[in-house]
Amino acid sequence: MILPIIGLGHPTLRKVAQPVTKDYPNLKELIANMFETMYNADGVGLAAPQVDLSIRLVTIGVRPYNEKTDTYGEPTDVHVLINPEILEFKGEKEYFNEGCLSLPDIHEDVLRPERIVMHWWDENWEEHTEEIDGLFARIAQHEIDHLDGKVFTDRLSPLRRTMLKRRMNDIVNKKVRTKYRMK
Ligand code: ZN
Repeated sequence: MILPIIGLGHPTLRKVAQPVTKDYPNLKELIANMFETMYNADGVGLAAPQVDLSIRLVTIGVRPYNEKTDTYGEPTDVHVLINPEILEFKGEKEYFNEGCLSLPDIHEDVLRPERIVMHWWDENWEEHTEEIDGLFARIAQHEIDHLDGKVFTDRLSPLRRTMLKRRMNDIVNKKVRTKYRMK
């Protein structure tokens, strides 16, 4: 089931989300719905607060798009993060162009460490502590920000944020069109 996505201005996006407990009702179904919602919106990551659930749950998956055939290939970097926690930032900081389903039409270069050591549980409640890099590390950091009530534009310079002010206000005032459902 595709869930509506909330945009900037919705209070849930600014809350610190609560840990997921093992007895959380219908967790498997929620995870499946989050993947469906994320892929439907052409997203590569989705945090539960973006579907108005203030819990520490994230889905990640990168679906390659083939322009010639207008089809999607098998997703890579597929992960479910339950209660993820960054234990250590490593390596150099680098810029990478980010977007967010809750901030449609805004794409900005964001500076983040290239590698992190992260602890999380997966959808089978298997525990992981791993050093990760690349796209997985980038998306995980963006999504963990959501769990802490932050969005990627918070990490931009004040000047850059001022320049984006009108577009951000349009999102708050629900004046943007998206091909996926927002509430
Ligand atoms: Zn986001």
